[in-house]
Amino acid sequence: MKKIILTGDRPTGNLHLGHYVGSLKKRVELQNEGDYDEMYVFIADTQALTDNFNNPKKVRDNVIEIALDYLSVGLNPKKVTIFIQSMISELCELTMYYMNLVTLSRLERNPTVKAEIKQKSFGNSIPMGFLSYPISQTADITAFDATVVPVGEDQLPMLEQARDIVRSFNNIYGETLVEPKALIPDSVVCRRLPGTDGKAKMSKSLGNCIYLKDDSKTVRKKVMGMFTDPNHIRVEDPGDTKNNTVFIYLEALCTDEHFKKYLPQYKNLDELKAHYEKGGLGDVKIKNFLYEVIEDTLTPIRERRKYYEENIDLVYDILKEGTKKAKRHASETLKRVKEAMLIDYFE
Ligand code: ATP
Ligand code: MG
Repeated sequence: MKKIILTGDRPTGNLHLGHYVGSLKKRVELQNEGDYDEMYVFIADTQALTDNFNNPKKVRDNVIEIALDYLSVGLNPKKVTIFIQSMISELCELTMYYMNLVTLSRLERNPTVKAEIKQKSFGNSIPMGFLSYPISQTADITAFDATVVPVGEDQLPMLEQARDIVRSFNNIYGETLVEPKALIPDSVVCRRLPGTDGKAKMSKSLGNCIYLKDDSKTVRKKVMGMFTDPNHIRVEDPGDTKNNTVFIYLEALCTDEHFKKYLPQYKNLDELKAHYEKGGLGDVKIKNFLYEVIEDTLTPIRERRKYYEENIDLVYDILKEGTKKAKRHASETLKRVKEAMLIDYFE
């Protein structure tokens, strides 16, 4: 069987450090390892509209922003097909057919959707499109016969839903669709990076993000304002590193090289943690270190972004090319699906 990798992001805002550690970094690694037959990365504007239908401009403006974010983290359009979801109408058709295979109660049980409904205060007026976005996600995944989907932890219920639909489709209509597998980060902290407020996951919708396009000054301000351990009041107090957002970010991002470069008195994060837990290590010092680590991560990303911002026509060409290629694959799958469902009348 072919190895096909697919992931996407909603154009609801710029991509942030949560995306980077949860999914983008892995995508670039996979791309560079080259051990795959096809790799797709897409901008999920249809999905973004399910909870932003009254704000089309926001979605439209963010499509190009996400494309810039992709290219700036190092996704290479020669190796990866980048496309816009709504341009592939086959995905809507597949969604329609898959809807027959999912019950309302199954959708309502999805823990991520449940949490999002609460967060968006839909109350009893949940848009159908929103509730059923996991079905449209199944269309995205299966249209490209994806076998590997690198995502953060919040997407695991979506992958479960996709696998359910695939199994039930294949049971009824015969072996047609490919069952996907989620690929989540090995590191637990990277699976769901918290926001700078230390509360929920870092999320575009919550305004608790450090964005990949933030400049140095903004990053410094955000890092200095981050929560640490509320009981770590004086420098000599022993501190907690487990529920401490600064340490969580360090865990997700720093390497021993960063210690050599910026804090040579410690060999690694374990030593820094031990000192903080014992007492005698101030918050400003760890925040300064985190700032340097984030800057090291973001500097090459900012440089690539600048190049593509100055060559924006190139970005549109990449999207156009990618969308054309993606459309070809999706239409082949749709043909197979229709044949299996006996609705291929004129073939
Ligand atoms: P929105 O608030 O609009 O839902 P988001 O910040 O949750 O935006 P998505 O576009 O929904 O971002 O998610 C894209 C991908 O990034 C998914 O694979 C998701 O699991 C991953 N991801 C998002 N936020 C985080 C996070 N804080 N930590 C790890 N992975 C994340
Ligand atoms: Mg999300």
